[in-house]
Amino acid sequence: MSSTAAGYKFKVAICGGGISGLCLAVALNRRCPDIKVELYEATDRFKEIGAGIMIWSRTWKIMELMGLAPELSKIAHAPPDGSMGTGFDYRRSDQPQEGFRFHWVRMPYGCIRFHRAHFLDIFVDQLPPNVARFKMKLNSYSQSHRDGPIFLNFSDGTTSTCDILIGADGIKSTIRAQMFQEASERESRPELLDFIKPVYTGTTTYRGLIPIKSLNSLPPNHRAIADPMMYCGKSKHVVSYSIAKGDIVNVVTFASDITKEGTQYEDGDSQWVTECPQQELLDCYANWEPEVEQLLQRIEKPTRWAIHHLKPLPFYVDGRVALIGDAAHAMSPHQGAGAGMAIEDAFVLAHVLEHATASTLGSALEAWQKVRLPFGNHVLRGSYESGVMYEFNSDMGDNYDVLGPAIEKQWHWVSETTPEDEVARASEYYKELSG
Ligand SMILES: Cc1cc2nc3c(=O)[nH]c(=O)nc-3n(C[C@H](O)[C@H](O)[C@H](O)COP(=O)(O)OP(=O)(O)OC[C@H]3O[C@@H](n4cnc5c(N)ncnc54)[C@H](O)[C@@H]3O)c2cc1C
Repeated sequence: MSSTAAGYKFKVAICGGGISGLCLAVALNRRCPDIKVELYEATDRFKEIGAGIMIWSRTWKIMELMGLAPELSKIAHAPPDGSMGTGFDYRRSDQPQEGFRFHWVRMPYGCIRFHRAHFLDIFVDQLPPNVARFKMKLNSYSQSHRDGPIFLNFSDGTTSTCDILIGADGIKSTIRAQMFQEASERESRPELLDFIKPVYTGTTTYRGLIPIKSLNSLPPNHRAIADPMMYCGKSKHVVSYSIAKGDIVNVVTFASDITKEGTQYEDGDSQWVTECPQQELLDCYANWEPEVEQLLQRIEKPTRWAIHHLKPLPFYVDGRVALIGDAAHAMSPHQGAGAGMAIEDAFVLAHVLEHATASTLGSALEAWQKVRLPFGNHVLRGSYESGVMYEFNSDMGDNYDVLGPAIEKQWHWVSETTPEDEVARASEYYKELSG
């Protein structure tokens, strides 16, 4: 049966039920009742890890436009009100005596923070029934011709079809692997194979959550309770911020060997996330200023993460298949931007698809890519560079007079354009491309 006969103009298959896939499914459902959406998730439920997540004003704007802001306000660290707030308070902290602020980034809304699981739940709650299919791990896709339907093959042997396929399947994306493998063979470009595997950034992260109750014994002016903090030292830094209406402090620490950026992680893919003893964390930041030690001593069971990112991809779209979120631009977390970029991918894509027809889907995805690829890759590169700066490893070292303004400049992407600008540009491109 054709899509039209079935009562919808085309069918979108979304592979992956993380923040990017869920946001796209919700945005399409809200904007485009005449598009059929199916979301395939490999695991048996939607889930997020126990950790914090931050977003910035441009992502908050999208949440307002999608009608999600009222619910999100209830679960944020505090209801966002648009006033000037702290992005990050940057301190020099790798010495036993009290450190000092060397830069303070402030911006409208500041840093808006959530518990990840609560954040994801808001999207899950908005998803209509019968859209999500669980335990559906996509193995591969195929097409008899580039403008025709796409056939989906799942690991349990089942199959399905769609008119466009969106790879929202995360940093180790199956769809990216197939897309770049096929393009490499088709175009005789072996260099495209280099974009398939994520590369190690050289950074190890330790993560933990501290219930605010256990911070009660701290000095009442401990900065981590009030503001997002960036405690910086040579080749290391520690981030902390409150989440869950201020009930929890989220801590993420970073230790880097920049000579390892771009290599394959020596402990193998299965060891990217592991539990580790608290002592390992304490040893890593021994002799840092007291307020850092006070935080780390309260993380009883840290997890250790090997931070990976992608080489900036040369394309996110191949025919009627597109990559969004981490599948397209997995980035190091130094600007808390990966999920925000995933949400923006989804938001812009839903707007472009709203106006597309079954015969203009290729143009719609091209138009989307023209806007999202330069931006996603810009933030990916900037995020990595920011981490290098925070750890005094850029050519500015710890010359605070130049480093502070340079760090500030790294944040310009947050407000240089708006999500509505991005939608308008993508819509213009779509009109040009679809004639
Ligand atoms: C330490 C750290 C801190 C971070 N902090 C922030 C922050 O503060 N702010 C921010 O914006 N970003 C942050 N990020 C980045 C953010 O977490 C990611 O960018 C975001 O979660 C990516 O979402 P996604 O939906 O694209 O991918 P994922 O969340 O990885 O979701 C992919 C989904 O696809 C499913 N899947 C995989 N393969 C298949 C398949 N073959 N078939 C079907 N389903 C499949 C998976 O099960 C999963 O559910 C941080 C990242 C790290 C590592």
